[in-house]
Amino acid sequence: MSKKITLLAGDGIGPEIIAEAVKVLAALREHGELDVVLESGLIGGAAYEATGTPLPAETLALAQNSDAILLGAVGGPQWETLDIKVRPEKGLLGIRSALGLFANLRPAILYPQLVGASTLKPEVVSGLDLMIVRELTGGIYFGQPRGVCRLEHGERQGFNTLVYKESEIRRIAQVAFTIAMKRDRRVCSVDKANVLEATELWREVMSEVAAEFPEVELSHMYVDNAAMQLVRAPKQFDVVVTTNMFGDILSDCAAMLTGSIGMLPSASLDQSGRGMYEPIHGSAPDIAGQGIANPLATILSVAMMLRYSLDSPAQATRLEKAVGAVLDQGLRTPDIYSPGTTQVSTGAMGDAVVEAFIHTPG
Ligand code: NAD
Repeated sequence: MSKKITLLAGDGIGPEIIAEAVKVLAALREHGELDVVLESGLIGGAAYEATGTPLPAETLALAQNSDAILLGAVGGPQWETLDIKVRPEKGLLGIRSALGLFANLRPAILYPQLVGASTLKPEVVSGLDLMIVRELTGGIYFGQPRGVCRLEHGERQGFNTLVYKESEIRRIAQVAFTIAMKRDRRVCSVDKANVLEATELWREVMSEVAAEFPEVELSHMYVDNAAMQLVRAPKQFDVVVTTNMFGDILSDCAAMLTGSIGMLPSASLDQSGRGMYEPIHGSAPDIAGQGIANPLATILSVAMMLRYSLDSPAQATRLEKAVGAVLDQGLRTPDIYSPGTTQVSTGAMGDAVVEAFIHTPG
C-alpha cells in the first residue's frame, strides 16, 4: 500500500529546499523503490496569509492521516509583530504538540569533506558523530502559566513555567537509551539540577531508566558545562539527551561543529514511530528566493524519514552516501564553500544528489 507523505514547505527558503527533497522522493518513486503519495499543506506565515491561522485544521488533518511529514521551515520578519497566538512559530509548536511528537532526534555528523568548513580546529571535530535527543513537547516552551502581566505598581513582568512530568522524562529517556544501544552505548543527560527542581527530577528519572539498560553508560552534565564541552571536546559525546529548551540551544551549537546549519537534519517522533522530518535551521529570510540555500539538511531529513517512518533503511543509507558523493565531487552551496571547491545553486545541488543516488549501489 502507498505511504502518504505530507509536505509542509512553510516560509522563506522552505519552498526552495522542499522542492529539492521532492526531487529525491520522485526519483525513488520513478525507480520503483518507494510507493509514496505526496500531498501538500500550508503552515506558518504562508498559512496565516491564506487562512488567518498558522496551523489550519486541514493541514493538521492531512498530517494526522499521513505516514510521515516533511517540513521546510516557518517564520519571517513580516510576521514578528503579530499576536504570539498566530505567529508562524505557533504553527510549528502546535503541530508537534497535536501529533505528540515528543522525541526530537538531531544527529550532528561531520562529513570528512567539510572539516575545513567548521570554525573549529580539524582535530577537534574530525570524525564527529553525535546524536542529540531533545524532548520536544514539554518543558518551558509549553508550561503554564505563561504570559506578560502588569505588577501592582504598573511594571510589566514576563513569565514562563518549566514543568516536566515523570512520564514525559521517562519516555524521552527510553528513546535515548534505545538509540544508544545501536551506537556506542553512552548517554549523557544534560540538565541544570543544581538550580532547577524540574531538572532535579529529570536527573532522578534518567538514572531510574538507566537501570533498565545496564549495557548503556549514563553520565550527567550541567547545561553550562555541556555548552562548553561541545565546543572544547565534542567527540566525548555519543548520545546527549536533554530538555526542550536546552536541546534547542545545544543542537544549534552542535550544528556549527559540522560546518553549517544547512547540513543538519532532524526527526520528531511520536510513541508509534510516526514522524515529522525537518532541517534544524529556520526559514533564513536573509537568503530566501536567491537560490543559494543549502538543501542537504532537508535531503538528509528524507533519509531519516526513510529509516524511521518508511521502513526503508537501505535507501536511507544510499541517500546519505549520495550526499557524501556529491561533496566528494567538490560541489558546495555558498554556506559550505571553501576555496578549491565548486559553488552551486540550491537546484544544482538537489540535481547532483539525485544523480548520485541513482548511481549509488544498493
Ligand atoms: P535561521 O536558521 O533561519 O538562519 C540563521 C543563519 O543561517 C542565517 O544566516 C541563514 O541564512 C543561515 N541558514 C539557515 N539555513 C540555511 C541553509 N539551508 N543554507 C544556507 N544558510 C542557511 O535562523 P534565524 O535567522 O534565527 O531565524 C529566521 C526565521 O526562522 C525566524 O522567523 C525564526 O523564528 C524561524 N525559525 C524557524 C525554525 C523552524 O521552522 N524549525 C527554526 C529556527 C528559526
